[in-house]
Amino acid sequence: MHSPGTATPHRFPAQERFPDGAQFIAGRPRRGTSGRTHAVVDPATGAEVYTYELAGTEDVDAAVAAAREAFPGWAAATPGERSDALHRFAAVLADRAEDFARAESLQCGKPLKLSREFDVPGTIDNTAFFAGVARQLQGQSAGEYSGDHTSYVRREPIGVVGSIAPWNYPLQMAAWKILPAIAAGNTIVLKPAELTPFTSLLFAEAATDAGIPPGVVNIVAGTGKEAGEHLVAHPDVAMTSFTGSTAVGRRVAGIATATVKRIHLELGGKAPFVVFDDADLEAAVHGAVAGALINTGQDCTAATRAYVQRPLYEEFVARTAALMETVRLGDPFAPGTDLGPLISHSHRDRVAGFVDRARAHARVVTGGEAPQGELENGAYYRPTVIADAAQDSEIVQSEIFGPVLVVLPFDTDDEGIRLANDTPYGLAASAWSRDVYRANRATREIRAGCVWINDHIPIISEMPHGGYRASGFGKDMSVYSFEEYTQIKHVMFDNTAVARKAWHRTIFGERR
Ligand code: NAD
Repeated sequence: MHSPGTATPHRFPAQERFPDGAQFIAGRPRRGTSGRTHAVVDPATGAEVYTYELAGTEDVDAAVAAAREAFPGWAAATPGERSDALHRFAAVLADRAEDFARAESLQCGKPLKLSREFDVPGTIDNTAFFAGVARQLQGQSAGEYSGDHTSYVRREPIGVVGSIAPWNYPLQMAAWKILPAIAAGNTIVLKPAELTPFTSLLFAEAATDAGIPPGVVNIVAGTGKEAGEHLVAHPDVAMTSFTGSTAVGRRVAGIATATVKRIHLELGGKAPFVVFDDADLEAAVHGAVAGALINTGQDCTAATRAYVQRPLYEEFVARTAALMETVRLGDPFAPGTDLGPLISHSHRDRVAGFVDRARAHARVVTGGEAPQGELENGAYYRPTVIADAAQDSEIVQSEIFGPVLVVLPFDTDDEGIRLANDTPYGLAASAWSRDVYRANRATREIRAGCVWINDHIPIISEMPHGGYRASGFGKDMSVYSFEEYTQIKHVMFDNTAVARKAWHRTIFGERR
């Protein structure tokens, strides 16, 4: 299926790699049957690079049926067998790393260095991690808790998982959904965002080539309204795991709840970046620029609101803006490029709209415009710093999902922490200080699923990723996510072997 013999393309030869359509069901590619097509656009140039038939409800039904059929066999495989398969999967991914990096960069506009150094190795590491975790089912020890019985728990797979992923990290999001689910013995149907199907397809193909049975991993590339909602509502899907915006997450939760499914939601973020007055300013400025611009700001944990204690505020604003101006926008495939375009022209216009509305009440210190000249056909936007915005303004409260950092001052430590907590979101945050007591307080009092101290962004396979409050619930990565894809059964054996048990007195009284 994979054809390593093709000449190394400059970008990624999508048409050549997916000639049979963008659905992957029961171990093979096929065309969608919705009757509608979608053109994948290279956001760096505006050129259409691949057109495919979108999945319709019948394709979702076929994928769920394939997953359902594969479930008993995969669930019955021993943990060791599933672990072996995942180890082989990691090896296949490593062999194809460059193919994955190019596909991801083409569909998302990510600089190749980001795909090569972050998305792809992170995914390979995650796969190897879940190969280990597959053998690590944990639970309470068996015991005679009642005195008359032996009790133990079984941790079992849930069944067919229906997952929906966003476009910002298509490969990693597919991996974060698929790996813990299949490591635990479930089978899965994943719907990538229609803008970015390539690396989910390569991932499913690699799983099959590594010997994971057909039907364990299925991909349906379709719209949220049609394929997505049908997958969430499907009666044969036992669990919905969704990563995307809070608005769509609410709708997905409503549909999943109505059909009584387990739900896992990874939603939007608006991460605060709190700089206390004893912080290493050089480190904080570099951390803010890197943390705000990672993936062109299209990162649910990106630094979006820097709160800087008054004595450092003006210098932080000036140095952050100056450093942002050194970041090189360009073709994602060119070696000198630091920052690629946004995912689409319409998303670029949305980001520009937030900044334009903020001009009335805040100061745009740098950026705030699309570059002209040779980049003007792409969905580019200049790195932007906004100062002096009001805490309750849209630019501070709403998720922008672009290369935009808002910087606000604070006076007391109490105020800094209060402001950090003052949005509906709670996905990630960072605090910058050399004082261990201040830093420790921030880790306790900031309400978010992750708090970094003196850094912002790094993630690791062993530790959980997931939100508080409007950022959702459930964890990705780590043993915690593995557990989310299992259900616990209590098994209880009678040890007395008597027909008339003591507790029957509650029914029969002394007649027992
Ligand atoms: P989105 O919510 O618009 O779409 C996410 C997915 O949901 C896509 O596959 C889309 O097709 C699908 N969808 C849309 N409408 C649907 C519906 N009615 N029913 C079912 N599915 C539907 O999000 P996006 O714009 O693709 O991604 C950006 C968002 O994702 C941001 O809010 C970001 O913070 C969030 N995100 C969160 C995490 C996290 O771990 N918490 C990680 C990455 C991205």
